[in-house]
Amino acid sequence: MKKLIVFDLDGTLAESKAAIDKDMAERLAALLTVAKMAIISGGDWPQFQKQVLAHLPKGKRLQNLSILPTCGTKFYQYKSGWKLLYAENFTDTQKKKIIDSLNKAVEASGYKATKTWGETIEDRGSQVTYSALGQAAPLDEKKKYDPDFKKRDTIKKHLDKLIPEFAVNLGGATSVDVTKKGIDKKYGIHKLRDVLNIEIKDMIFIGDAIFPGGNDYPAKQAGAFSIRVSDPNETKRVVEGIIGCLDDGRFKKGF
Ligand SMILES: [Mg+2]
Repeated sequence: MKKLIVFDLDGTLAESKAAIDKDMAERLAALLTVAKMAIISGGDWPQFQKQVLAHLPKGKRLQNLSILPTCGTKFYQYKSGWKLLYAENFTDTQKKKIIDSLNKAVEASGYKATKTWGETIEDRGSQVTYSALGQAAPLDEKKKYDPDFKKRDTIKKHLDKLIPEFAVNLGGATSVDVTKKGIDKKYGIHKLRDVLNIEIKDMIFIGDAIFPGGNDYPAKQAGAFSIRVSDPNETKRVVEGIIGCLDDGRFKKGF
């Protein structure tokens, strides 16, 4: 019997960086009354607050929800409010080395942008993210910047030499993420198993990038029963199906 339903965020529960819509909020609230639920994303906590938590009904049922920012290097649970269970942050020395190396690698690549919007380096505690055009760059500029990943590949090659002890990943349209090695959704699934004491065979994982190279694929590799969706609307149908199977009569009319 499945006990825990785990979701990816961007592209699965909501469009990239957008909030969940009313229909999704209604279905997730219903799911929380019949099952435990978790969300794993590479994004940080404020992203979860803005995109998901601000739109869910408050109350005791949130105790069934676990939030794992930056792939589970942070873990939040709901008691009478949201509580951070742990955060595996970089030390100050590690952070300094990563930021210095990022600056060096960008210079050496020859791809340092001449125009930027906002800060280019963001400290997320357990992840340092470089955004080539800055945090607040307009979407059309970001799309044009590096569609074939060539620029960031060059930056990554320099970085891999400077900080071989860390993992360097290319994400989004303009970003380069630096984390500890081995931090992906498989890591998050293992954290859920250990913290919630639920076996992986009792989990369902739902994501839009469950294919080799996709950032949800490691969750499948961890052994979770995985369902690939193409967008949030498909996720709603999957959630309805799960509620229909687990419901004890409250949602007998369906959605
Ligand atoms: Mg996704």
